[in-house]
Amino acid sequence: SQRNLGNGHNQESALQLFVNAKKKINDIFRNIGDYVKESDNFVQDLGTSVDCTSLITEESANVVKGFREKITGITEVLARDHMKVVFFGRTSNGKSTVINAMLRDKILPSGIGHTTHCFIQVEGSDSKEAFLLTDDTDKPKSITDIKQLASALSSVRLSENSLIRILWPKDRCRLLREDVVLLDSPGIDVTPDLDSWIDNFCLDADVFVLVANAESTLMQTEKKFFHKVSSRLSCPNIFILQNRWDVSEMEEDIDQVKQQHLEGNTNFLSNELKVTDKKSAKDRVFFVSAREALATRVNSDKGLATPDRVLLPGFQARLFEFANFEKEFEQCISHSAVQTKFEQHTKRAKEINSSLRKVMEEAYTKSLTQQDEQIQVRREKSSRLQQLDRQLDTLTSDMKVKIKTMVEDVERKVSVALND
Ligand code: GDP
Repeated sequence: SQRNLGNGHNQESALQLFVNAKKKINDIFRNIGDYVKESDNFVQDLGTSVDCTSLITEESANVVKGFREKITGITEVLARDHMKVVFFGRTSNGKSTVINAMLRDKILPSGIGHTTHCFIQVEGSDSKEAFLLTDDTDKPKSITDIKQLASALSSVRLSENSLIRILWPKDRCRLLREDVVLLDSPGIDVTPDLDSWIDNFCLDADVFVLVANAESTLMQTEKKFFHKVSSRLSCPNIFILQNRWDVSEMEEDIDQVKQQHLEGNTNFLSNELKVTDKKSAKDRVFFVSAREALATRVNSDKGLATPDRVLLPGFQARLFEFANFEKEFEQCISHSAVQTKFEQHTKRAKEINSSLRKVMEEAYTKSLTQQDEQIQVRREKSSRLQQLDRQLDTLTSDMKVKIKTMVEDVERKVSVALND
């Protein structure tokens, strides 16, 4: 989880917020699960034990049983929960290259947006090998390298807008290890059914990244998509990457162009979509070159220097900007995911806890009343016994006197008889 910043200092990544929160909430739910299970067994026992059937109604017993199932369901969802980022933009704007640069590996083939209209999701797997999973089968296909993946993707005949999942070994990539799932979308220019895109793939997204082309302004379809997203999700987190900045920066009047992009993008996020204020909107727009970021990262991870011809003048500032984007992105996605993924579960757990408490308290109160009644009965019995005791006492003392007089009488008669 430690990230090497390249300057010898390690820093814990912001994604750990989510990773740790997930660990914690999983532990809490495991405890609640044990507790609910114990309560359910107890309640079922009460229901079958002769003296206690009246302590709990059948309805309450069923409620407790239901909680057991609910907790199991939530625990399963929690184990699968992750942070999800969805990438959008026109074909060839560099979505796949951005994803690869973030993953520091050439996982997605570039330039396949034209051939497949599918969504491609990259997620971590505990396996040592990479696999491909398609909608049409449960059978994972093994992928050995990127060329094979590209041909596998172009050979699979899937319906439009279906999902291809790439299960990539977690130990080869930090983002995947830290529970980030990255989704690449078909180009937004290829007549998309935006509503079904949103319904099928975006409702659980924590962050959206619009990969724009620095050579042109935002397209109407790109804007329309985010308008639709923000009407479905309250205040979506959107980042805009002005990609291919390496090429743009070569041109004249670039400062003015940059200012225009910045102005246009921040206006769109703050005034049009109203997802952020104008000042914070500036922290959501980055001028990057995914191509350079990918090349330098892949090389440096292999311990190689990136050849000069690959990097255009001013590349360092663009690499820095890409890293800055990632820093902001990681903070944003982990905070958002903790809130959207865990808040609902936490609320539900609290509800279950308090309902369970109510059921238990009801049984307890009933058992106290029953105990009081028994004590009352016992008290009445005991006072009856005391009375009997007293009667017996009087009886025995009367008897003693009688026996004594009788003995004396007999003795007297015997002695009279003897004298005679
Ligand atoms: P996608 O269709 O949006 O996924 O785009 P790709 O990632 O496949 O990129 C399309 C082409 O643009 C590829 O040839 C990439 O190498 C190239 N490309 C991507 N990002 C950049 C960039 O920042 N600068 C330059 N010059 N080329 C890029």
